[in-house]
Amino acid sequence: MDSQLHGSCLCGGVRYKAALPVFHSSHCYCTMCQKQHGAAAGSYANMARAGFVVQQGAELITEYASSAEGRRGFCRVCGSTLFWRSTASPDRIAITLGTLEPEYAGPVERELYIDTKPAWLPHGG
Ligand SMILES: [Zn+2]
Ligand SMILES: [Zn+2]
Repeated sequence: MDSQLHGSCLCGGVRYKAALPVFHSSHCYCTMCQKQHGAAAGSYANMARAGFVVQQGAELITEYASSAEGRRGFCRVCGSTLFWRSTASPDRIAITLGTLEPEYAGPVERELYIDTKPAWLPHGG
């Protein structure tokens, strides 16, 4: 089994890999994630920053400081959200599940900020 996750942005300019394991994964419904992703949530795999390697297009990645400690990395060509990190936890990085190839196979254990989870999400069933 591959010991890395692989991912890329929509335009293909940025390609990265990240060394397993995934410590945990999450759907974050905070309003900042909703704005940045233009979606109900930001979905992330929390991993070791030391194992995150940008293989192509590092110059295309822009980081936005969304809070005092939060940094949100995206491709400046296509806008794909690539990762979230906190300067308070410099050893970790949260990689967006939607940019992984192939599709993320692991469970998503956590839902964060469910108090701002949008009512327009399907409720299943
Ligand atoms: Zn791109
Ligand atoms: Zn969030």
